[in-house]
Amino acid sequence: MDIKNLARKEILNVKPYEPGKPIEEVQREFGLGSVIKLASNENPLGASPKALNAIKKSLTKINRYPDGNGFYLKKKLTEAMGVEINNIVLGNGSDELIAIALKTFVNKGEKVIIADPTFLMYKIASGLEGANMEIVPMKNFKYDLKAMKAKIDANTKMVFIANPDNPTGSYVTKNELDEFLSGLPENVLVFYDAAYCEFGAEFNDYPDVKDYILRKNIIVTKTFSKAYGLSGLRVGYAICESNIAALMERVRDPFNVNSLALIGAEAALSDDAFLKKTLKITKEGKKFIYDNLKKLNLNFIQSATNFILIDVKADSKEIFKKLLKRGVIVRDMSSWNMNSFIRVTVGTKSENKQFIDALKKVL
Ligand SMILES: *Cc1c(COP(=O)(O)O)cnc(C)c1O
Repeated sequence: MDIKNLARKEILNVKPYEPGKPIEEVQREFGLGSVIKLASNENPLGASPKALNAIKKSLTKINRYPDGNGFYLKKKLTEAMGVEINNIVLGNGSDELIAIALKTFVNKGEKVIIADPTFLMYKIASGLEGANMEIVPMKNFKYDLKAMKAKIDANTKMVFIANPDNPTGSYVTKNELDEFLSGLPENVLVFYDAAYCEFGAEFNDYPDVKDYILRKNIIVTKTFSKAYGLSGLRVGYAICESNIAALMERVRDPFNVNSLALIGAEAALSDDAFLKKTLKITKEGKKFIYDNLKKLNLNFIQSATNFILIDVKADSKEIFKKLLKRGVIVRDMSSWNMNSFIRVTVGTKSENKQFIDALKKVL
């Protein structure tokens, strides 16, 4: 018998997530010494030094289970976000919170509304739950919230909004968001993914996350993986009304966030200098890359994040491979069916220059 017959039907339709290629793999494959990775929107400055220090100090305690309630990290978050401990759910990355929210609220066959292109985990996690996915195309690389709202019906349970979005880097303005939220039916929960909100804040009309966190129909998520430089630790959090949080807590694994992640994230939250530096080099890096793309006559989407979506006007798979051979890992957008696009994470000054130099050669 084919073992696939034993699997739940839902998982057979799920296309696995393709992560950015790891540096070591590219070094092995192409025999390269130095390789730069601009593929997963990680922080090019490394991790917050405060986080590293705190982690080092607590290494000897990893024989113990983590605090399953994440008390100290949550406490710190309550101060930062102006909420109570029972408004916070911690996740093994905010990826896990997507799965937890779906498992908590979405029954098989219920509708979830997802934009295209957006973060692929919404589709993957919804597929695993057997949700009925309504995919709504973007308009000019931006969320079309009016069209998404029009798709809401009595069977709809959740709407996913990444703001700013990945992979486009575009954002929904405060007015657009307010209009979308006004008069939403009570059966609908909004999963509002603010993974890049620190970068979005550079734009005046980008909504302040704090204005949306405790409404009765919203789950806001944030992460330590991007601006805070802790992708490898896996820690993110949801902020929501306590009744929502309590339900999600039932679904969460008891020790889903490991002890080093708890310690590191707590320390990173108070490292304002690191965050500031990150935002500064990102802004400067974007300008450098934009200027050079203009010179190359390439179109790109103005980004409210730490990455840029670029139309290379050629087969993105080919460009991706040629960049790899030159030791530059970017994201080939063909997984999103955008066959002439690449997505590049803004790196350090020298990484950005290396990327542009390599791009010039391969085009
Ligand atoms: C990177 C990313 C996340 C998740 O990151 P975690 O590392 O799981 O916290 C969530 N949403 C979007 C849109 C992202 O780009």
